[in-house]
Amino acid sequence: MMKNSSEINIVRIGSDITYSSLKKIGDGILESFRDFIKKVNLSHHNSPVVESIDAQLLTMVLDEEYSGHTLGITDADLKTGDEDEFYNSILGGKNPQNDVAVVSTSRLSPEKLDSEREYDLFIDRTLKVSLHEVGHNFGLTDHASYKPAADGLLCPMSRGEFNQFGYRGYIKVIVDGRGKIFCDDCVTFLRSIYGRRNSSGPLLKDALVPAGL
Ligand SMILES: [Zn+2]
Ligand SMILES: [Zn+2]
Repeated sequence: MMKNSSEINIVRIGSDITYSSLKKIGDGILESFRDFIKKVNLSHHNSPVVESIDAQLLTMVLDEEYSGHTLGITDADLKTGDEDEFYNSILGGKNPQNDVAVVSTSRLSPEKLDSEREYDLFIDRTLKVSLHEVGHNFGLTDHASYKPAADGLLCPMSRGEFNQFGYRGYIKVIVDGRGKIFCDDCVTFLRSIYGRRNSSGPLLKDALVPAGL
């Protein structure tokens, strides 16, 4: 179980995303994990502009620099050592050896990125892939099937099959099909391990609030 899991570092590597969009992603993560994450620290990691980064290496660098529950967001392509070409470039990943997850925005952009609507879609996709990877940080596993949450949209942990769609199709069907609410199975798992932080806080504080406020 993660130490200090109620706080997460969100680190921007590269500069595709504006700071206000990064904040939006942080707020979205707080909202979806509201019983489990209480604080988001946003920061920027300076790195040379590169087209691709080894995903594993990036998690190790971030772990050393930030330690603890961390999500890195980069515009570089994330590479894995996988020989299958289909899997050697990933949207996101999590290193099981530490508490660092990484997301690449390089394939999440719609075909054009001219309008506000298209940019919003781009940020929304980045948030959804981030929720999935942060879910892995908490120990959640993929749903191979299309698992709906209470809002009727797919649970963020839905994975589906890459090779059934190709990247663009996958993003449209699976990533865009996901909502921001976790399914009952995922919530039950999170509660069983991390409890409900809302109710486990120092309740006595309430006694200090004057009646009527
Ligand atoms: Zn996954
Ligand atoms: Zn789920």
